[in-house]
Amino acid sequence: MLTILYRGPLASCDYDCAYCPFAKRRDTPGQLRADRAALERFTGWVAGRDFEVSILFTPWGEGLVRSWYRRALVELSGLPHVAKVAIQTNLSCRTDWLAQATDRAALWVTYHPTQVPYERFLAKVRSLPVRHSVGIVGDPAHLPHARRLRADLPPETYVWVNAEEGRLYTDAEAAEWTAIDPLFAHSRLPHASAGLPCRTGDSVISVNGDGTVRRCHFVPEVLGNLYDGSYLPALRPRPCPAAACDCHIGYVHLEPLGLYDVFAGGVLERIPRVP
Ligand code: SF4
Ligand code: SF4
Repeated sequence: MLTILYRGPLASCDYDCAYCPFAKRRDTPGQLRADRAALERFTGWVAGRDFEVSILFTPWGEGLVRSWYRRALVELSGLPHVAKVAIQTNLSCRTDWLAQATDRAALWVTYHPTQVPYERFLAKVRSLPVRHSVGIVGDPAHLPHARRLRADLPPETYVWVNAEEGRLYTDAEAAEWTAIDPLFAHSRLPHASAGLPCRTGDSVISVNGDGTVRRCHFVPEVLGNLYDGSYLPALRPRPCPAAACDCHIGYVHLEPLGLYDVFAGGVLERIPRVP
């Protein structure tokens, strides 16, 4: 099975979080058309494969407010050789269309407390007809919101906490977040990864809008292109060339961490086997 992290040119978001790690922009109609064309080319490529594929969409901005991402999720989830199709989202979109997706669609939902009324967000999560995890950035100002969310969602819904970029947590602070997310320890500090075996570049790849293939979103070396097949000969086990890996969508594939066991069945949408 090939796992693909896809990130097209889309960079606009309907939210405006102060801690947003992405270089957001307002996409012009031309940029939106280009993003749509790139996504449709990608979904067409996936549809034509004769091997199993899993996909996580990791847009810079918000994808599900765009019809082409909603359609991609529904259509890909219905293909027999697509084991999983998931997307990172702020869940600002309407959700009725998800009823058309199969049980192989999944959502990685992030709650942004300054951007959406709590009750509206909670009601939307509760109504989701597909697999999902829900999480929050571990900003101290978010702690009451995170506790409330954990208390209000069913125990089987995993609530994750991402360590805030650059923040060092004392043990006491980390314990507060761990009470919400028992797996917070994995996010608390970047993982030293240099020289360690990582599945990216072998069974996991990162693809951008023009089909450029890299091993992951964090290592710039190009392995080839998806659409001319030039990436294929480059796939093989290889150690991580970076000093550290601090994002779940990367280090979940870092073999010594054993997170494929922890997240068995939910690696892409970040759902642990036993929440
Ligand atoms: S929802 Fe995500 S992409 Fe949008 S502003 Fe907030 S952090 Fe940035
Ligand atoms: S450990 Fe992280 S940075 Fe290193 S190759 Fe894997 S995903 Fe990329």
